[in-house]
Amino acid sequence: MKNYDLVIVGTGVVGLGAAIAAKKLKPKIKILLIDRHQQCTGASIRNFGFITITGLELGIMQKRALRSKEIWLDMCKIAKIPIHHRGLYFLAHHLETLPVLENYLEADQRSNLKLLSLSELEKQNQFLYQTKPHAALYSPDELRIEPRIAIPKITNYLSKIKGIDFLWNQDVIEDLGNALRTPKKTISYDKLFLATGNHLQGLGRDLFLKHKVQNCRLHMLKIKPDQSFKLGGGVMSDLTLMRYPGYQNLDFINAAHRMLKKNYKKEIQNGIHLIAVQCADGSLIIGDSHHYTDHEHLPFESEIIDQQILSLMEKVLGIKNYTVTERWIGHYPSGKDDYFQHFYDRDRVQAVVTTGIGMSTGFAFAEETIERLLN
Ligand SMILES: Cc1cc2nc3c(=O)[nH]c(=O)nc-3n(C[C@H](O)[C@H](O)[C@H](O)COP(=O)(O)OP(=O)(O)OC[C@H]3O[C@@H](n4cnc5c(N)ncnc54)[C@H](O)[C@@H]3O)c2cc1C
Repeated sequence: MKNYDLVIVGTGVVGLGAAIAAKKLKPKIKILLIDRHQQCTGASIRNFGFITITGLELGIMQKRALRSKEIWLDMCKIAKIPIHHRGLYFLAHHLETLPVLENYLEADQRSNLKLLSLSELEKQNQFLYQTKPHAALYSPDELRIEPRIAIPKITNYLSKIKGIDFLWNQDVIEDLGNALRTPKKTISYDKLFLATGNHLQGLGRDLFLKHKVQNCRLHMLKIKPDQSFKLGGGVMSDLTLMRYPGYQNLDFINAAHRMLKKNYKKEIQNGIHLIAVQCADGSLIIGDSHHYTDHEHLPFESEIIDQQILSLMEKVLGIKNYTVTERWIGHYPSGKDDYFQHFYDRDRVQAVVTTGIGMSTGFAFAEETIERLLN
């Protein structure tokens, strides 16, 4: 007799999202979640906790972000996850960024987006006004949660309230077709959902190779500014135009790219753009950089990259006095398609977000995948 109706491997946002969706669809379903570590230690706890809508590709990606946000709001309420701030300010310190943001405003259907002039920004956010950007694209839709709190809280809710079983410290080493093997156990299942994220070895490796999925490595920092202030929303800046997909096909983007390449050669070489979000104690999480390889990254962290991120932060936010309190590295899988959903057969699927916006869109992607797997 099988052990579980559904086994999910991976307890990041995609694995947890699959469990939430499966319970909604079939409340009596018997589920097991397995992770190789003592808790999720993957991208889902290493990110900014920034649930963003703005700048994502308009269409399916933005739809997934809007649906994921609904699920996040439910989870925040049910699992008592605090929301640290809402909204996004995209600060334009270069004139060439302005027409791109104006064009974005026309393309994005949301009626609550605004392009704030400098004087409007002064009224709305005195702190961000200080560095005098030409204008700021403002969206009220974004959420900032602390992933280190949110992921364990959702895990706890699924275990205690929804009666889902969790198996920790068990590396799944083989799928036998109707059962999984770990070094200690064999667990049989009806349906299998692999949500293993960025793991270029072991399960799913052949598929990753076939789809040319790369391993993207990011530098992240936490700083404690001397001065106390409210950031009032997540912050992005001109260099984000090099990275976020929603800006890439807009009018005037080529002129903006040319200007950025001229002014930020070294930052662009390291895939740096600025994202800043605020924690409950006033600290900021800032990042990030992007380096890609087909293999595992070597373990050496260059201080130059951290210094480039910090100096960009100083310019964009005008913060000069602060202490770096944490540094860490994150990884996510990066492919030519932004999502990777592979059905081995009708009972077994591998679902991976192969771009850096899984926190914003992973819940909806997992929900869609579960609906296909269980129906
Ligand atoms: C530094 C950084 C910043 C980011 N910032 C943002 C952001 O602000 N907003 C946003 O939308 N997205 C962001 N992202 C992207 C987002 O974090 C990821 O897309 C998302 O977390 C991926 O979730 P996941 O569940 O697929 O993978 P993961 O969170 O990596 O979870 C996979 C889990 O599977 C387990 N596992 C793997 N193989 C096995 C096995 N064989 N047996 C047992 N367990 C296994 C791992 O231990 C891990 O816990 C960021 C990513 C990084 C790295």
